Amino acid sequence: MTAQLIDGLALSKSIRAEVATRAAALTAQGRQPGLAVIIVGDDPASHVYVRNKVKACADAGLHSVLEKYDADFSEAALLARIDALNHDPRIHGILVQMPLPKHIDPHKVIEAIATAKDVDGYSTLSAGELMTQLPGFRPCTPYGCMKLIESTGFDLRGKHAVVIGRSNTVGKPMALLLLQANATVTVCHSATPDIGFHTRQADVVVAAVGRRNVLTADMVKPGAVVIDVGINRNDEGKLCGDVDFDGVKEVAGWITPVPGGVGPMTIAMLLVNTLESAERA
Ligand code: NAP
Repeated sequence: MTAQLIDGLALSKSIRAEVATRAAALTAQGRQPGLAVIIVGDDPASHVYVRNKVKACADAGLHSVLEKYDADFSEAALLARIDALNHDPRIHGILVQMPLPKHIDPHKVIEAIATAKDVDGYSTLSAGELMTQLPGFRPCTPYGCMKLIESTGFDLRGKHAVVIGRSNTVGKPMALLLLQANATVTVCHSATPDIGFHTRQADVVVAAVGRRNVLTADMVKPGAVVIDVGINRNDEGKLCGDVDFDGVKEVAGWITPVPGGVGPMTIAMLLVNTLESAERA
């Protein structure tokens, strides 16, 4: 293996330890940071995600509430719960787990969360704050990817970064964060004819598609930093990313594994955002 592994698990642990220290200081002043997590319906994967988030809060000394509702919970009732949490002084972050049942408009729900408590950074106001470099909350996954890149000591200034994927929650905010770090950024997506043409010139590649082998060894410049956001299953049912890890690790300079790369960082950055919301409150 040529590439050095970027250990997201280890980095997330050190970030969570720092969150715990700062949370304890706030708690001692009677201002314990608090996160509310709402889940509607019975999607098993979503229930695992929210359990992990609530457990991470408990481990770092944050107050958390988990509100679980049946799949037929009405949109109006959900909006009323968000309104109540917006006004709850013990809650500094509100997260509504996606996907929501079809009868609920996710945009309405996200926009109902007070911007000051939008620790997922998904609302249009938070997106605008990111775009204009105002101090709002950065979406947790791209924010975590930036921390992973930073951890390598790699200076993004003047480097070429390619993001594969342009979702509102990962690809687009990722591109903006790289741009803010003074990288020259190219965004590829499903209509990009030859992704390898772009990635072969890239010093950094972030793959956020949700499809195996989107990035293979022949598409990577030697020494590049490769961040794999994707979550997929291989033929044996094992978790894997978008990157052909075994091939790309022989060419790249740095690479994140799946699992153990971006995933743990997403939760760590959720804690950071919640803590910072409490510090600002
Ligand atoms: P998404 O909303 O489905 O967006 C996927 C993006 O990939 C779209 O922009 C799409 O392009 C693009 N795409 C699809 N097929 C492509 C192809 N063949 N070549 C190039 N681009 C292609 O997904 P997402 O929410 O951004 O998530 C992406 C992946 O990251 C998923 O596997 C998800 O599970 C994972 N994820 C992981 C974490 C974590 O914490 N580890 C967090 C969030 C997401 P178009 O816009 O043209 O359709």
